[in-house]
Amino acid sequence: MIPITDNHIHLDRKGKGILAVKEFARAGGTHIILVSKPSWTLGMEITKPEDYEPVFEETISIAREINLSDVSVTAFPVLGVHPAEITVLSDRVGQTRAEELMISGLEIAQRFVCENEAIAIKTGRPHYEVSQSVWDASNRIMAYGMTLARDAGCAVQLHTETADAAVIADLAVIAKRSGISPGKVVKHYAPPLIHVFEREGIFPGVLAGKGAIESALIEGSRFMMETDYIDDPERPGAVLGPKTVPRRTLQLVDRFGEEVFWKVHKENPEQVYGIEIVV
Ligand SMILES: [Zn+2]
Repeated sequence: MIPITDNHIHLDRKGKGILAVKEFARAGGTHIILVSKPSWTLGMEITKPEDYEPVFEETISIAREINLSDVSVTAFPVLGVHPAEITVLSDRVGQTRAEELMISGLEIAQRFVCENEAIAIKTGRPHYEVSQSVWDASNRIMAYGMTLARDAGCAVQLHTETADAAVIADLAVIAKRSGISPGKVVKHYAPPLIHVFEREGIFPGVLAGKGAIESALIEGSRFMMETDYIDDPERPGAVLGPKTVPRRTLQLVDRFGEEVFWKVHKENPEQVYGIEIVV
């Protein structure tokens, strides 16, 4: 049995929740990096920093439930503020206050990491067109998130615009300026540009869409695999399902061998997040 880790998955009690984890396990999955959902998808309205606490506690509680259940999957929580929150919050409280709230949210995420309730922080910048002022604020927030991760000695996951070589290089520059080791910076939803990521130092979580993992493996094994499953009952099929990473992995073992997947699913996440992947 080989370890199979999904580097970025969300679960929602209004969606499939633990059932999705059972599907993942039945397909051969063993570990998930469980990322907090954007506050508004949980119906929570952020008006003060502490409002992020229940958002994060929900992720922690779902992870705990999985870890205590008889499903043989281990969940590691990652907490953070979704970059699109700047749009949602600015509409309600203005951009300056939105930035303050998001910064405070990241500080709370860091506190949970320091208390060993989570393994990493999530931040980033919008994946859609925004004004220069929102873009600048988002870059400040993302850089601050990296600094918080550096201080906590943890990894940071980034949600950003589509990453080409220029974007990857830009993220690496911001990481270096923030003082975090680029190897602790994970570009979530990454394309299979393994050589570019290797050169820039930041780590890709490659979206396991059609053909992507084959392309990645042709360039190397310095990557993780993910679905970004969102578990949204109103958008079924909007993203890759929870079985995708184990299915793709087991399909590709025949062609690429098992050893490379020990690297992808165990050694890489262990090194990036400082966790232990045991099967
Ligand atoms: Zn996500």
